[in-house]
Amino acid sequence: MWRGSEALSPIECEQVLQEIELYLDGELVGAIARDIEDHLGQCGPCMSRSEFRRKLKGLIAARCGCDEVPPHLTEKLHTLLSRVDPTEP
Ligand SMILES: [Zn+2]
Repeated sequence: MWRGSEALSPIECEQVLQEIELYLDGELVGAIARDIEDHLGQCGPCMSRSEFRRKLKGLIAARCGCDEVPPHLTEKLHTLLSRVDPTEP
């Protein structure tokens, strides 16, 4: 049994966060999607962020009945997301 930085998946949190929207939209396929899944399984903060966004997407889909988010709502959500970002001090 060994733990340490070498046990983590080869991609960084930063990269996960950049790709997470595409991942949740199902637009990522292949190795990168697997890398993100691996990372989410090992990284608490990224996992909670992805769960949060996934729930938001579900909420939006239920409200609007569509996949497209109105721009003003997107902006609102981004403000909201940046406020609850666990990396914020
Ligand atoms: Zn992470």
